Amino acid sequence: MAKNDTRPISGEQQPEDDGGLDRALRPQKLDDMIGQDRVRDNLRILITASRARSEALDHVLIYGPPGLGKTSLSHIIANEMGANIRVTSGPAIERAGDLAAILTNLRANDILFIDEIHRLNRAVEEVLYPAMEDYALDIVIGKGPSARSVRLKLPPITIVGATTRLALMTAPLRARFGATFRVDFYPLEAMEQIVSRAARMLNSPIDPDAVTEIAKRTRGTPRVALRLLKRVRDYAQVMEKSPDKRMTQTVAKQALTLLEVDPLGLDDLDRRVLHAIIDKFNGGPVGLETIAASISEEGDTIMDVVEPYLLQLGFLDRTPRGRIATARAYEHLNIPYTPSPTQGSLL
Ligand code: ADP
Repeated sequence: MAKNDTRPISGEQQPEDDGGLDRALRPQKLDDMIGQDRVRDNLRILITASRARSEALDHVLIYGPPGLGKTSLSHIIANEMGANIRVTSGPAIERAGDLAAILTNLRANDILFIDEIHRLNRAVEEVLYPAMEDYALDIVIGKGPSARSVRLKLPPITIVGATTRLALMTAPLRARFGATFRVDFYPLEAMEQIVSRAARMLNSPIDPDAVTEIAKRTRGTPRVALRLLKRVRDYAQVMEKSPDKRMTQTVAKQALTLLEVDPLGLDDLDRRVLHAIIDKFNGGPVGLETIAASISEEGDTIMDVVEPYLLQLGFLDRTPRGRIATARAYEHLNIPYTPSPTQGSLL
């Protein structure tokens, strides 16, 4: 995952995101969670059933673009189960021994949240298999012909994995999760509720029109909503004349225009990607890595943050030969639609 994506509309966690505030705004229970109804309903059944049987919850895998609530859901699962949660990530666990140390410190029914689980290396994954399947840890003692394997019993635990790239996970690891959920971009009404709720929790007065103005530009991503809200609040603090520094629609529009976030939530990078496809590659088809190289950007950022949203807007089409810019993308950029012959035959 890209680590240097500092754009205001990036779904990635950024250093200036206020960790404390982010945590305070995080929904605690399934009922506090806005949107993702299908995931919530399924989780509720899973949790209620395993509580009724007094068993550890089945392992859960959550996938989808960054900033949509995967980490929040893992905390909600722990709260609803009344369980402790230990948080780690694929890149943080470098060696098999690191994971063994974490696993042996867990207690019955604890939850281990592994973010970016697709980035676990092979040796670490091998330790995870028996832990997930049999609640067991296989330790090899000695070397060469005299080496032998000893099996340690672990308490029943739940692994909650999160990934932005399901396709990069190995099949054996995916197969060990009892339940797999996809989180989707949130519809406008859900984003409006998330913006209003956050403004209330920040004690910042906001007009309904301003809520909608912000919600429309969040690209269906709660993390982006919180970030844009904070920037609009700062802008209101400095520019708004009224004593309560209210966030009005005008203030929201001005603040977001200053951030170069357009009415659909596209920013400069999104527009550069679309322009590259249209201007340099005749509308496509063209591979993502080629697009990234042509505008000197990281392929990961484009794949995790830019592409999913452009696909969702219907601005891009994915074909076996690469990405194609659609008529809608041309229209949004005010470019006459003149698809290349290859593009026409692929659409
Ligand atoms: P991910 O793990 O998918 O990158 P997070 O769970 O860290 O996303 O969510 C990012 C931020 O968005 C969190 O600070 C959380 O407060 C907020 N958030 C996520 N989902 C919701 C939701 N459904 N309702 C309200 N806030 C949410």
